[in-house]
Amino acid sequence: MLAEVWDRIGDNRMITIKNVEEIAVMRRAGRIVAEVFELMREKIRPGITTGELDMLAERLIRKRGAVPLFKGYNGFPGTLCMSVNEQVIHGIPGKLVLQEGDIVSVDVGARIDGFCGDAARTFAVGRIAPEVQRLLDVTEESLNAGIGQAVIGNRIGDIAHAVQTVAEAAGYGVVRDYTGHGIGRDLHEAPDVPNYGTPGRGLRLVSGMALALEPMINMGTHQVRELKDGWTVVTLDGKPSAHFENTVAITPDGPVVLTVL
Ligand code: MG
Repeated sequence: MLAEVWDRIGDNRMITIKNVEEIAVMRRAGRIVAEVFELMREKIRPGITTGELDMLAERLIRKRGAVPLFKGYNGFPGTLCMSVNEQVIHGIPGKLVLQEGDIVSVDVGARIDGFCGDAARTFAVGRIAPEVQRLLDVTEESLNAGIGQAVIGNRIGDIAHAVQTVAEAAGYGVVRDYTGHGIGRDLHEAPDVPNYGTPGRGLRLVSGMALALEPMINMGTHQVRELKDGWTVVTLDGKPSAHFENTVAITPDGPVVLTVL
């Protein structure tokens, strides 16, 4: 039934199809996003604050002539969403000092020449517990399984099911309250791309679509709640959560990941 709802959404909301030139611009936005992750990999260590990392990311994005997409989005104060440990998404950067053994999910968006890139990675702070590293590995693997289904003729449900299968086989909870999305001139376009679903259902994928696939995977329950700050989403059971995201173009040559170097 949910799949039918997706079909209706697809019919009623605008799905933008990008031409080759537009995807090339999105690739440039994606490279800047990927550069931010390189910077994070270098700078994330015990003792640094999420606010300092946010400032460094904003400086890099602006130096490349791009605009940070999240800053000011519905009033969000940061360039990065930085979500630590049991925080799932939308954590606000600030005075929080990263500690040895933490994990931090970094979500970043940038726009250049009118087109967007959006991606996320979860980083280890110093040495982390093996079971937490496994959560990171499986979440990234689930994203890649989803990307593998992002081919012409498949449906949104094929992506969703591939992500869900990898995460649940490892015993993890797949967040349902938030989804991936179409992306282009706008950060969030139709269609929604859930991380759970039924193969063969939902909107059919065509050449020139661009999707941000973004599994949010919890070590325990899939259930989440929002903190009183109105942004930060945390796991209901307080167990850690990981988030990996890439912007992907659907092309005749197969899925092209735009948010890499
Ligand atoms: Mg996104």
